[in-house]
Amino acid sequence: MTFASLGLIDPLLQALTTLGYKTPTPVQTQAIPAVLAGRDLMAAAQTGTGKTAGFALPLLQRLTMEGPQVASNSVRVLVLVPTRELAEQVHESFRQYGAHLPLRMAVAYGGVSINPQMMKLRKGLDLLVATPGRLLDLYRQNALKFNQLQTLVLDEADRMLDLGFSRELDAVFAALPKRRQTLLFSATFSDPIRAMAGALLADPLSIEI
Ligand code: AMP
Repeated sequence: MTFASLGLIDPLLQALTTLGYKTPTPVQTQAIPAVLAGRDLMAAAQTGTGKTAGFALPLLQRLTMEGPQVASNSVRVLVLVPTRELAEQVHESFRQYGAHLPLRMAVAYGGVSINPQMMKLRKGLDLLVATPGRLLDLYRQNALKFNQLQTLVLDEADRMLDLGFSRELDAVFAALPKRRQTLLFSATFSDPIRAMAGALLADPLSIEI
C-alpha cells in the first residue's frame, strides 16, 4: 500500500516525501479513502497510530479540490481538540502536510489574547484547529460563522469530556449546519462517547486499531 494508491494528490505526496513517510499506517489506509469520499468516521485510535495524518491528508485534499471559497469570518473545516498543546501539534501537522497548498489555516486556544485570533478569522479560513472553550468565545463574539462549515473533526473526544468540555461541545454542535461531515476520534469508547457518536454521526465507518 502506498499514499499514491490511496488517491492522494501530488502536492500532498510531495509533502509526505519531505517528511520521510513511506507507507501509510493501518488507520491511514482505512480513514483516507473514506474521508475523501465524504463519509463520517468513528475511530478508536490512540496517539502514535498516525491518526492525525489519517484525517488531515484527505481533508486538505477535499479543501483543495473544491477550490477557494472562503467568506469573511467563515471556516470550512473545524478541528476540535482538548488542549492547547494538542492544538499546536495538530495545526503544525496540517501546516506540514499542506505546505504546497494555498490554504488559509489557523489555531485558536484559551489562555492567550483573543484579538489576534479574531483578526485571523476576519478574512475567513479554510481550516481552524481550536479548543472548545475559546472556539465558543469566538463564536459568541461574532468572530466566527458556521454557515460554510463542511467538516467537523473531534480529536481525542474522550479527553475533551474528561476535561469538562461537554457543555461547550453541545453549544458548538447546536450552532453547526446539520448537513456536514463529522469525524470522531477517541482512545476509548465509553457510554458518553457512544451517545455523542450516535447524535453526531450519520452511517459512520467504524475503525478500530
Ligand atoms: P499521531 O498518531 O497522529 O500523533 O502520529 C504519530 C507520529 O507518527 C507523528 O510523529 C507522525 O509524524 C508520525 N507518522 C504518522 N504517519 C506516518 C507514516 N505513515 N509514516 C511515518 N511516520 C508517520
